[in-house]
Amino acid sequence: MPRREFTVKTRKAALKRSGLICEAVGEWYGLPAGQRCVRNLGDGVEYDHYILDANSKDNSLENCRAVCPKCHGWKTRNHDTPTAAKTVRQQFMGMKTKGKSPLAAKPKTPKQSRHDWAPELPRFRNFKGVEG
Ligand SMILES: [Zn+2]
Repeated sequence: MPRREFTVKTRKAALKRSGLICEAVGEWYGLPAGQRCVRNLGDGVEYDHYILDANSKDNSLENCRAVCPKCHGWKTRNHDTPTAAKTVRQQFMGMKTKGKSPLAAKPKTPKQSRHDWAPELPRFRNFKGVEG
């Protein structure tokens, strides 16, 4: 689902501002407080809405951060998850417990021994042979 993106102009400005170093700073991006990421954006750059655009609709340069994919991914996982996703997950969990099938009702088939089906053999104990 594509979001509203920054304009090319904004991206270029953000990249220029970054000096090709990831602009991610602090805990918001999974870094120690106040510490800036030092990765070179020459390896890959993504443009992050510092304040989630779903709420602010803010595609200004001030809200744009040129960050490395790693920092962007961390923030997305930990901060940008919309509340809607949480609701869906809760509904799914509810369905899962509700639809539990009773396994105890499954009938057990008795294990039949092969010998039960064999015909009784005639007894030859008192049979007199032809010899003698
Ligand atoms: Zn980074």
